[in-house]
Amino acid sequence: MTAGDLGTRLRRWRHALHEHPETAFTERWTSDYLAAELEALGLVVTRGLGGTGLVATLRRGSGSSAGAIGLRADMDALPLHERGDLPYRSRTDGVMHACGHDGHMAMVLGAAHVLAGEGGFDGTVHLVLQPAEEPGRGADAMIADGLFERFGMDMVFGIHNTPGHPAGRLSTRSGPVMASEDNFEIRVTGRGGHASQPQMVVDPLVVGAEIVLALQTVVARAVPPSEAAVLSCTEFVTDGARNAIPGHVVVRGDTRSFSPAVQDLLERRIREVSQGICAAHGATCEVTYTHEFAPTVNHPDATALAVAAARLTVPDDLVDADVAPFMGSEDFGVLGRAVPGCFVFLGNGDEPDAGGNPLHSSDYTFNDDVLETGVRFYANLVRTALPEAGA
Ligand SMILES: [Zn+2]
Ligand SMILES: [Zn+2]
Repeated sequence: MTAGDLGTRLRRWRHALHEHPETAFTERWTSDYLAAELEALGLVVTRGLGGTGLVATLRRGSGSSAGAIGLRADMDALPLHERGDLPYRSRTDGVMHACGHDGHMAMVLGAAHVLAGEGGFDGTVHLVLQPAEEPGRGADAMIADGLFERFGMDMVFGIHNTPGHPAGRLSTRSGPVMASEDNFEIRVTGRGGHASQPQMVVDPLVVGAEIVLALQTVVARAVPPSEAAVLSCTEFVTDGARNAIPGHVVVRGDTRSFSPAVQDLLERRIREVSQGICAAHGATCEVTYTHEFAPTVNHPDATALAVAAARLTVPDDLVDADVAPFMGSEDFGVLGRAVPGCFVFLGNGDEPDAGGNPLHSSDYTFNDDVLETGVRFYANLVRTALPEAGA
């Protein structure tokens, strides 16, 4: 196979997937397409994990007695309208691959193609095609369907493209690399009434405003300065009217951090601050706190393999083994909690309209020129993690 053949195949796969975007847990066309392509490459495909998810397995050499690793790509698109007039633009109005998961899937197909054709490893590779990354639900759904019991893996790896980084740069780090995301909702109940009679009411709007301000002290005054955390209030909803003080206020928000201990601290302080302020004013509140995404924490052994593979793939100046952590969140964190893992960023380009447009924007595009880099990285990673005897 020549490099030209691989590049052509990768573009064909990516463009077909891009034309057929599907949101979380509805990736049926995508799942059928991936299964057909992977079976055509000779892999054993198991479907129906986490709904539309699938695992394709490739064995070489001594097979199941040797090691096993997972390469994971995400499958879902976003409910966004695609701008621009690419020849392979979305055929579904209002749904778009605006996070580059089409490129991630194409790179995993490319890795299957190269590894099935060229081998060069001893062990088992499970290609994990995961639904519903965007809402942070697909990894858990696959695990609930027995992902790690049915497909034993010593390690798991994944790639996300990164607009704003030079095209083809591979970056990662050992330890926390992407944040958790938790959501909170504080429902404050007071007593509504006439806007002219404050003595008759318990104004939940004033109480809510005080809570919003006081929550800004949580990161500043409770989280150790050596730990990163963000606490943002994002919604403030009342049932008041022009001349009526509301009876209820709902404050919603979002937190990010890199460790379960900080997640617990944020939750505890949000409850204490809200309940204390409500008690001071004669109001009451209910606080709910939900975990949306686990932090992604790279294992040192998996990271060492990924960095070694990156150095085999691109020149040293395109490898960053100690990238600054991102405050964004990724469902890969759930997989990396179950088995040692490493999540790697692949630069998508840093020029506007040449890979540099932001993820989740309606003019985002995956940079086809980095597809082959991702495939070569995966192939080098498999051969590094699962070396042939004597290699
Ligand atoms: Zn995304
Ligand atoms: Zn994404």
